[in-house]
Amino acid sequence: MSKRIAGPEIERLIQLLAKLPGLGPRSARRAALQLIKKKEQLMAPLAAAMGEAVEKVRVCSSCGNVDTVDPCTICSDPRRERGTLIVVEEVADLWALERAAALNVRYHVLGGTLSPLDGIGPDDLNIAGLISRVAEGGIVEVVLAVNATVEGQTTAHYITDQLSGLDVKVTRLAHGVPIGGELDYLDEGTLAAALRSRTVF
Ligand SMILES: [Zn+2]
Repeated sequence: MSKRIAGPEIERLIQLLAKLPGLGPRSARRAALQLIKKKEQLMAPLAAAMGEAVEKVRVCSSCGNVDTVDPCTICSDPRRERGTLIVVEEVADLWALERAAALNVRYHVLGGTLSPLDGIGPDDLNIAGLISRVAEGGIVEVVLAVNATVEGQTTAHYITDQLSGLDVKVTRLAHGVPIGGELDYLDEGTLAAALRSRTVF
């Protein structure tokens, strides 16, 4: 039987922290120790912030972004240009493009990519929502900012087909996105260049 070094509450904290991206069991232990050391300055406010986020986080019914308000802050921002819509796979991609700050527009989050092998079809993604947003009118250009992977490109082709009957220009990212690359891992300069040099799909 292995020796226990802490009570169940601390072991549980470490187990949960270890599920976060970038944290293995070892870093989770360090993070837990830091939280315990800074109980008042860090652990208590973090716990409060998480409790509040659990209560308030929701998915935007228009674009699929996550926020504490619906429609989300981006969708309800009157200063954003309404003629262009950037389609992304995940919320992380939306945040990455916002960091690049190349265009002041709105987004549409698909929630993944088409992947027949994994049983993910069009109905599993937020594609119908995209088509109806475009069909409502007012959108001149749809930028397909999907990953340069087989699944990403398959999804881009599918969406282009679905949009073909509608009066909208469909473009995609050009230079800068490496083959097999994921948007969330690119630097802002590369992302901004890719957005600026987008081409017709
Ligand atoms: Zn939104």
